Amino acid sequence: MSEPSSSVIVWFRRDLRLSDHAALAAACGGGRPVIPIFILDEQAEALGAAPKWRLGRGLAALQAELERIGSRLILRRGEARGVLNDLIAATGAGAVHWTRAYDPAAQARDFSVKADLKAHGIDAHSFPGHLLFEPWTVETKTGGYYRVFSPMWKAVRQRDVAAPEPRPGTIPTPDRWPRSDRLEDWALGAGMRRGADVVAPHVQAGEVAAQERLDLFLDAGIGAYDTRRDIPGVDGTSGLSQYLSLGEISPQRCWHAGLRARQEGQPGADTFLKELVWREFAYHLMYHSPHILTGNWRPEWDRFPWRTDPAHPHVLAWKQGRTGMPFVDAAMREMHVTGRMHNRGRMIVASYLTKHLMTHWRIGRDWFEQHLVDWDPASNAMGWQWAAGSGPDAAPYFRVFNPETQLDKFDRDGAYRRAWIAEGQGAPPETALAYFHAIPKRWALSPDDPYPAPVVGASEGRRIALEAYQGRALADIPYS
Ligand code: FAD
Repeated sequence: MSEPSSSVIVWFRRDLRLSDHAALAAACGGGRPVIPIFILDEQAEALGAAPKWRLGRGLAALQAELERIGSRLILRRGEARGVLNDLIAATGAGAVHWTRAYDPAAQARDFSVKADLKAHGIDAHSFPGHLLFEPWTVETKTGGYYRVFSPMWKAVRQRDVAAPEPRPGTIPTPDRWPRSDRLEDWALGAGMRRGADVVAPHVQAGEVAAQERLDLFLDAGIGAYDTRRDIPGVDGTSGLSQYLSLGEISPQRCWHAGLRARQEGQPGADTFLKELVWREFAYHLMYHSPHILTGNWRPEWDRFPWRTDPAHPHVLAWKQGRTGMPFVDAAMREMHVTGRMHNRGRMIVASYLTKHLMTHWRIGRDWFEQHLVDWDPASNAMGWQWAAGSGPDAAPYFRVFNPETQLDKFDRDGAYRRAWIAEGQGAPPETALAYFHAIPKRWALSPDDPYPAPVVGASEGRRIALEAYQGRALADIPYS
């Protein structure tokens, strides 16, 4: 057992906040000195360019918040177990706290770290906080996990969720702080190259920004969320995903805000709560069927003839936002400029890549992993497989989104298209021009280029996809 006066290390990972943080609250509650740390281990090193850059912004914000109340964030680079052992040796810490993670790599790491710490007499405690419901607590009537969203939503929508905890007023500090790396020296934004300057104005990082975004959404967005959330040309969604992804806000805080709005009779509140449960659904799927991250969730799809060349000209056109399909191109460019993409855009570009262009969803998954500031392992993998047909969609896999009719329906006034596609506009807006500053120079693209003809037209792509499905007798596969 650790000395009662020894310090407690709080190991931050995807929980970059001080409020509603069970691991931190428990550490502070004991009155012992608390040493907040972040470890740039191989998993953090392996993040895609945009999420890694965004992590740097989140760490800077957390550092500032901790310093504001007299504490610090100790930064160390290396293998987690070795770093923790070094810090324990340097500080005499007797306990390590962290918030649970659910992806298989993080789980394997945490399992071995916990065993090692315990073997050395250190109290190792993992806490909930990244999800509303721990994945092992939500089961179907027959005892398995939910493979379809709607029944899971029905099962959890009335469940109690603990109210969010306030942030600790003070964090007890050690007499001497251990050495810390400098955040600048980690160069977490290096992979973004010139794109960082373009994306930066669209991103406000940290817990304070997250709360402000939630407040704004509650004041001005949630009432009409139901009707506006599908229109990519307006700011009609919460914009909370990047904060949830890094844990700058807790899902509990969002949930309780949604519940209050529902009680006040705000029409969009129930849909907002439902979307939060989509995030849970993705995590529960990842926890119970981790192969969703890497292979077809429905193994029948292993025999599907996806295109797998990431450099194929059609794939390049998709990555560049130059497919000649305005909805697809607008959405891809939105991501280049803001690091985010509207949910309807994500569905359309994913469907177009995997169906019209017959390209493996893994290529799209990887591209998003490089470019999204709200990148999340579970939601990204589920979203891709859902769109491709190989994942947990209750609708039949042969549903093929038509990017033309979708544009007519969800961008009636053309606002989204105009915001992101410069070619052909006499005076394109800043947003559309910014794309040309974000993309690699070697693409040699200019707003004066003609807008391309479709690489694969809407109905041609649908025909190609349906023929491929028929040829593979996927129709015989039972669905659900
Ligand atoms: P809102 O509409 O305000 O929703 C509130 C919250 O609910 C979101 O912040 C998010 O946490 C959750 N949520 C909403 N829709 C979904 C969904 N379909 N799946 C899971 N959670 C959801 N989301 C990510 O956070 N990271 C990703 O990497 C990611 N990749 C995706 C890839 C594809 C191909 C698709 C189709 C969807 C992906 N999504 C991802 C889900 C969704 O598009 C985003 O969560 C949403 O657009 C974020 O915007 P918002 O915060 O304004 O959402």
